[in-house]
Amino acid sequence: MSKNIIIAIDGPAASGKSTAAKRLAKALGFLYLDTGAMYRAITYAVIKNNIFNDLAKIFELVKNIELRLKYENGLTRVFINSDEVTDYIRTPEVSGKVSEISRIPEVREEMVRLQRKIAAQGNLVAEGRDITTVVFPSADVKIFMTASLDERAKRRYKEHLEQGDAITFEEVKENLIKRDKIDSSREVSPLKKADDAIELDTTNLSVDEELQKMVDLVNNARE
Ligand code: C5P
Repeated sequence: MSKNIIIAIDGPAASGKSTAAKRLAKALGFLYLDTGAMYRAITYAVIKNNIFNDLAKIFELVKNIELRLKYENGLTRVFINSDEVTDYIRTPEVSGKVSEISRIPEVREEMVRLQRKIAAQGNLVAEGRDITTVVFPSADVKIFMTASLDERAKRRYKEHLEQGDAITFEEVKENLIKRDKIDSSREVSPLKKADDAIELDTTNLSVDEELQKMVDLVNNARE
């Protein structure tokens, strides 16, 4: 059997990775993997079990948790030990704490193991922070997606408004700044552009233009 194709996308918070990766996966008929959803689910479980300050308990949780993702109709549904937590992983509370949890090496180790297992299931578009650098360094196409801070904050604020979350534009922007800072400066698997990743600045691109650019990159890589 031939090797599965992997398209790896990294970039800062709200850079448009999810929308782009979903649309690309659909256009190519590939699986889609939102690795941020995995770190968010762990963070949700840590908050729910009230163990944020207890590393030993967090290690135990991440070793024993049964995390399952099911992508359907444009939505990554997330299950912990068969309970659906999809609606709880994108709250301002989880967004405020996720970078603290995802900087823990033992948490990353387990998530990376799971991500590689998922990649064995078929051709894949995966997005996150360390996908091009650590999880799939030999991916067939590597993209580093960026957008200006204001544009990213606008996009994320709009999503929160649509969900009816009580949060201000400034709070959204502060959360992005804080997460980018922790994600880029952590010791293990920091967010950074891989030397051989192609940078795609989406600040002034429509979602259709974004998709076209990515499809072109994939076609070039396949030639
Ligand atoms: O992609 P999203 O913004 O949902 O990711 C939430 C958080 O999960 C990030 O801010 C980062 O702390 C963490 N993350 C990570 N590595 C990944 C994906 C996400 O550390 N591959």
